[in-house]
Amino acid sequence: MTASTIRPAVADGRLPGRVWMYSNYHCNLACTYCLTESGPKAQRRELDPEAMIDIARQALELGFTDLGVTGGEIFLLSRMPEVLAELARSLPVVALTNGTLFSRRLLDEVQQLAELPVALQISLDRPDPDTNDAMRGPDNFAKVVAAIPRLVERGVTVRIATTVESIEDAELDRLCELHRGLGVPDADHVIRPIIARGRAVDHDLGVQADVPDLPAELTITADGAFWSPFGPTVHGGRLDTDLLITRTTRPLSVPAQALLGLVEQRPAGADSTLNIR
Ligand code: SF4
Repeated sequence: MTASTIRPAVADGRLPGRVWMYSNYHCNLACTYCLTESGPKAQRRELDPEAMIDIARQALELGFTDLGVTGGEIFLLSRMPEVLAELARSLPVVALTNGTLFSRRLLDEVQQLAELPVALQISLDRPDPDTNDAMRGPDNFAKVVAAIPRLVERGVTVRIATTVESIEDAELDRLCELHRGLGVPDADHVIRPIIARGRAVDHDLGVQADVPDLPAELTITADGAFWSPFGPTVHGGRLDTDLLITRTTRPLSVPAQALLGLVEQRPAGADSTLNIR
């Protein structure tokens, strides 16, 4: 019954095709604009790998077309390379990572993704170490620019995400020169705004984003299902629930149907403009 409503809604564009999963909330970094107040001491809330694989299979059956995986830093979970490979056997995956954990061992483990429809989306905000690292942490720039060509030479698809309040044309030109030199073409470079949720609020950063601004991309976490990957944010140590749809996450048809119901209540022409990727 639900597949018969979700599939056509995705096909005709009423519902975005991507299902996001927050694999975890902890991170080795503590960026000033982090939506989820992630960091080494963040509370560990994780999606079980088997649950992620099950969600991917259900997403395929329901008629969704793509998957996204984000956190926290996803590669702090030791099974993440094999989980991404398994997800990609259901649907194409974009996986967001800060790009700082690519040891020789992890590079070898992610090589299996080269043959699969998986893109690793790595954060790189500025073309210079000082300005890049000011918001992300020491040595972030050096680790990222070292990791990207190693991934590219292994055949792993890499995209670059630049998250900024603003960037001058000349600085952006240098950033684009840099990513092209690292082996990432313009088509795989996305620029996105800082959203005023999570830690960004405390640093007076970002643009306000309300429901009409946010794509209705079903987002599954350990705490429930949300309207958007910008939904399960954390502020003051507490999970934001303003964009919570259902506490139930499986069967996936339950939050999917709830999301579709909410989308269909929106006035015509209320297209969203902000994207996490
Ligand atoms: S923005 Fe990403 S890399 Fe930075 S602390 Fe948050 S989860 Fe970690």
